[in-house]
Amino acid sequence: MNVVELHRVSKVHPGGVEALRGVDLTVAHGELVGIVGPSGSGKSTMLHIIGTLDRPSSGRVLVDGHDVARLSDRRVSALRARRIGFVFQQFHLSAGTSALDTVAGGLLYAGVPLRERRRAAADALERVGLGHRLGHRPHQLSGGEQQRVAMARAVVGDPVLLLADEPTGNLDSASGAAVLAVLRELHAAGTTVLVITHDRDVAAGLPRRVHMRDGRPASEPAPGGAS
Ligand code: ADP
Ligand code: MG
Repeated sequence: MNVVELHRVSKVHPGGVEALRGVDLTVAHGELVGIVGPSGSGKSTMLHIIGTLDRPSSGRVLVDGHDVARLSDRRVSALRARRIGFVFQQFHLSAGTSALDTVAGGLLYAGVPLRERRRAAADALERVGLGHRLGHRPHQLSGGEQQRVAMARAVVGDPVLLLADEPTGNLDSASGAAVLAVLRELHAAGTTVLVITHDRDVAAGLPRRVHMRDGRPASEPAPGGAS
């Protein structure tokens, strides 16, 4: 089954910028896909639309089998909260909140009782290698650890789809590698992962890459230069 289908998706931002121009994209269940391309090529706009954080100007968006435009706002919010996890370049952690409570907050919309939220949060933090940092607040964690808290929050509800926009962009290479290792483990455990990166080494190591250029995917050059 496809987790993501974009059919001729275009997006004109306020001010008239045509960020996406007729994008067709299919991502099957269980894929790990890198989205690469120059700044301004529409990568973040595409990820936001896939994540239902933004709507296309035209075209069809299917996420986890749902035609997003046909859902009420309430159902779109539920789809986003329960099926999609997000990781951004900025960690978006609130100062003063422990890692455990931050991650437990990722289950607020799922109607899970507090004790169970905390247990699931501890499990998720364990999975990202932070089982020994449950009570730490953001200022007591390194950048790489903060990003792993954000990743645990993104996946604590077992989303089918994890969207990551430059998750290693603010990290040194060792911390970036740790974040990437977590993405790979989540993928190996069955989560479909889309990750925007402009790190060439990261991109080169991924099983599939989508090259964005001028608002749409360009086909990947065949190995050896043949087309
Ligand atoms: P990328 O992530 O590949 O750098 P973006 O999707 O962020 O590209 O941006 C694509 C184009 O759309 C750029 O020209 C950018 O300036 C423009 N853009 C992005 N977001 C907005 C917005 N909210 N309002 C107006 N223009 C935007
Ligand atoms: Mg971007």
